[in-house]
Amino acid sequence: MTRLRTSALRWPRTGGGALALLYVAIALTPLALATGRPVAPLEPWERFGAGLGLAPLTAMAMQFVTSGRFRSVSGGLGIDKIMAFHKIAAWWVLGALLLHPFAYVLPTVLDDPDLGRRRLVAYLTLPQYRTGVVALVALALLVAGSRLRESLPLRYEAWRAFHVALAVTAAGAGLHHALTAGRFSALGPVEGWWWGVSGALVAVMGTLYGWRWIRLHLRPWRLHAVTKLADRTWELDIRPAPGGRDLRYEAGQFLWMTEGARRFPLFDHPFSIADSPMRPGLRLIVKEAGDFTDRIGALPPGAPIGVDGPHGEFSLENHAGDSVLLVAGGAGLGPIMGLLRDLAARKDPRPVRLAYAVAHPLDFACLEEIEAAMTVLSLRVLPVCETEVEGYAGAVGRLDRPLLDRLLEGLEPRDAVAMICGPGPMVVAVSDALHEIGLPMERIVYERFDYASGAASRQDRRRLRRFLLVGAGLAAGVALFAALPH
Ligand SMILES: Cc1cc2nc3c(=O)[nH]c(=O)nc-3n(C[C@H](O)[C@H](O)[C@H](O)COP(=O)(O)OP(=O)(O)OC[C@H]3O[C@@H](n4cnc5c(N)ncnc54)[C@H](O)[C@@H]3O)c2cc1C
Repeated sequence: MTRLRTSALRWPRTGGGALALLYVAIALTPLALATGRPVAPLEPWERFGAGLGLAPLTAMAMQFVTSGRFRSVSGGLGIDKIMAFHKIAAWWVLGALLLHPFAYVLPTVLDDPDLGRRRLVAYLTLPQYRTGVVALVALALLVAGSRLRESLPLRYEAWRAFHVALAVTAAGAGLHHALTAGRFSALGPVEGWWWGVSGALVAVMGTLYGWRWIRLHLRPWRLHAVTKLADRTWELDIRPAPGGRDLRYEAGQFLWMTEGARRFPLFDHPFSIADSPMRPGLRLIVKEAGDFTDRIGALPPGAPIGVDGPHGEFSLENHAGDSVLLVAGGAGLGPIMGLLRDLAARKDPRPVRLAYAVAHPLDFACLEEIEAAMTVLSLRVLPVCETEVEGYAGAVGRLDRPLLDRLLEGLEPRDAVAMICGPGPMVVAVSDALHEIGLPMERIVYERFDYASGAASRQDRRRLRRFLLVGAGLAAGVALFAALPH
């Protein structure tokens, strides 16, 4: 078989540490531009208050590029880390901006509580500060709406439309407030910074909802076939429309998909590519999970499909190992089949182990194809089913440490790479078990299908500590800005 698309157009992979430094440097830039300027407020507390506006407003603007839609950002870190960062950064932006007006009045409150209270009320009610208050309210609703998303009576698309509208309102009103009410922001360089940030946000929104929309129509795809693979699980075979071209991607990556007349980025859904780049077209394995996916099996062949991708870094090109452990849970089979199909297409000589866990035997998909892959790969497979059903002879229960130990027998865990995709709790349990078995954290790679918070693995907790360090770096920058003589 000839290799059709050897690899995706690779974005330069910037490491997490470099991205974190870049993030802190950009967020602190307006403070650097304001440092040393003899501008009131001159009291350290007031400068602290100003710093709590300047840096977090820039960090708020950066939330637009950590939304998972920019390949240059999520291609290096992966969607899981990017979304985790997006969520945690939202909290420190909100916390700092809520403290921003309080820091200005704190010395007055300590001297004269009544005067301090009146000053605070003035900040919150005077017309010249109104857009600042609008920004704060929009931001608070934005963060609360994300935290409570699962319990809100809203369809995902409606929630997302509100999310975008509130984000634009918060950033737009915040920038207006900085430009009209900020004393440091009246300085040429800082004012120029805010105009630059405003221009960048317009460009980002234009790219996300304008340019991506145009591209979805310029490069249409068509649904070639839909096949039922298992209970409520479908395989979509999509091909470029006549005159279109195939996608260059790495097995395991995902794309944002839209369908029919709704080919607008606001309606896109992420799906992993369950295919090998050595084959033309793209196959996706989709499990019914809500209003969009419930309709997927009824899509007529020929339906126009919008494809935006590839995205993510869940690929073996990005994660080396002498042997490969693939772990799929339920719908997580999509990217795992992509990796397996590619390993088989390339006749990869490495030992490959596959654990595939489902809730019920009827949920198993692609078992025949997996068995056929054993003829070309050094592959050992462990199907696991949570429910004991008559006629099912495989392992019953959850994928736990003893089962993983058995599956990894004969391999050196330190040199293996594990690619895991499945429901959050399974990902956490398997990731921690593999770390105990001896796989280094860097070689335990996972992607979740759901951004909602849930149980955290050791790797998640280490990641959280690193993110908190980034927040601490911002706090230290603001404190330094307040302490430096002006
Ligand atoms: C990187 C990634 C890869 C994925 N790959 C696959 C795959 O290969 N096969 C598969 O079956 N599923 C996959 N999913 C999950 C799939 O995107 C959701 O099941 C689908 O979007 C649900 O949409 P719905 O309208 O049917 O259900 P809804 O009821 O609208 O949503 C169910 C849940 O899916 C999530 N979701 C819905 N819409 C979106 C969206 N636009 N963006 C992000 N999350 C959303 C939300 O957590 C929501 O609570 C993947 C998810 C991610 C993040």
